[in-house]
Amino acid sequence: MKIAIIGAGYGGMAAAFDLRHAGHDVTIFESADYVGGLAGGFKEPHWDWSVEKFYHHWFQSDASMLGLMRELGFDDKVLFPRPLTVMYHEGKFYPFDSILNALRFPGLGFGLDKIRFGFVGLFLRLTNNWRALEKFTADEWMLKWAGKNVYEKMWKPLLIGKFGPFYRDVNMAWMWARIKARSTRLGTFEGGFQKFSDMFAERLRAMGVQIRLGTAVRFIKRNPAGGLMIDAGGVEAFDQVLVTTSPNLLAKMCPDLPENYLKGLLDLKSMGAVVMVLSLKEKLSKDGYYWFSLPKEAGFPFLALVEHTNFVPAEHFGGDRIVYAGDYLEQGHEYFSLSDEQLLEKFLPAFKKINPAFTRDWVKKVRVFKTNYAQPVPLLNHSKNIPAIETPVQGLYLASMSQVYPWDRGTNFAVEIGRRAAKIMMNM
Ligand SMILES: Cc1cc2nc3c(=O)[nH]c(=O)nc-3n(C[C@H](O)[C@H](O)[C@H](O)COP(=O)(O)OP(=O)(O)OC[C@H]3O[C@@H](n4cnc5c(N)ncnc54)[C@H](O)[C@@H]3O)c2cc1C
Repeated sequence: MKIAIIGAGYGGMAAAFDLRHAGHDVTIFESADYVGGLAGGFKEPHWDWSVEKFYHHWFQSDASMLGLMRELGFDDKVLFPRPLTVMYHEGKFYPFDSILNALRFPGLGFGLDKIRFGFVGLFLRLTNNWRALEKFTADEWMLKWAGKNVYEKMWKPLLIGKFGPFYRDVNMAWMWARIKARSTRLGTFEGGFQKFSDMFAERLRAMGVQIRLGTAVRFIKRNPAGGLMIDAGGVEAFDQVLVTTSPNLLAKMCPDLPENYLKGLLDLKSMGAVVMVLSLKEKLSKDGYYWFSLPKEAGFPFLALVEHTNFVPAEHFGGDRIVYAGDYLEQGHEYFSLSDEQLLEKFLPAFKKINPAFTRDWVKKVRVFKTNYAQPVPLLNHSKNIPAIETPVQGLYLASMSQVYPWDRGTNFAVEIGRRAAKIMMNM
């Protein structure tokens, strides 16, 4: 079969790998001039490694990702250091990456709240019944079982940070998945995620997959002669098309989709993200912390501060210290329209809270990355609203972040859903 894949992110490339392996003629159309999609990276001339535009790491539980690495023979390049993750409490940061550290965290005192926190955490790690949990919002479930204090100190800031105005609508299965499938060791690729993406694309090309970069698909239509037609600056016919973009983009590209399926796509909610990447002359966290979870109520202008060079040594970046300041935001939030300079002005005071010695002249370079589609918002009973991979238009398939569920989206699940779509396309 002649198959088109729209998007050279992890989902599209993983699907291409299996489809080509099975002998199909595969072409990937990618609007950007690089592969890797949301996990793409960049490199300054004096760096050996690339840095992801949006902070990225893997978990040891990422079975699909690590399995693919083994198949490709790249697994010796996956590194799993154990960086330090901290939580904010009354002006100070406390390690929060092990059960022992969670028990020591002063934010919950040492009485009943800590016991409730422990029992709820244990229950969520042990249960597999996420279907029962998706009937409740995380807000109501946590208030009931963890209690007001634990919820407001621990879980509410996470929900607000990730989902902003939708935080009360997110279902409890999302929270379950986050607690269930995470590890304290975090993984990266030798050379950075972009290095992996480039090596994967090179392998695909060697297998005979065509990857057309800088080629945006404008529309997909039924071909009266059978199959589908794609317009990407010239019309071409294919037997099957797999779309790996957001459901919203699919709705725009394919007006042939029936109205109820289109409505289902357009009703799905998601958050965007704005991430600033700073190259600093000095190390920001004196204690060597990697990940700072920051509550908005404490006045921080972003959700997460991530000192990448406390995860990957600064020597790979010519001695530069790499710091991310990032936030998940609803479309239309003012951060999307601010210039890099205006955003920096808003963010700068927060760096002093991390290290009082920080001064503006530590900043060597600032880059800001924005995306409208960063994090799907799973509402109540979300499993019933997920669009099928096989769309009602014959030969047209969708494998997007919005269909990853109950797990929280990530490169691991992009690989999983991409490969699942390939199986469905081959009727396996
Ligand atoms: C801030 C942030 C932090 C994250 N952190 C992590 C993390 O720590 N670990 C982790 O595993 N995951 C993380 N993720 C999630 C991860 O990046 C995604 O789940 C994954 O990359 C999705 O892959 P995908 O192939 O489904 O989609 P994408 O990567 O979005 O790929 C879709 C591709 O389609 C292309 N495209 C769009 N429109 C067209 C068109 N018209 N024609 C042709 N091509 C088109 C896009 O350019 C893109 O390359 C993070 C994401 C964000 C935003």
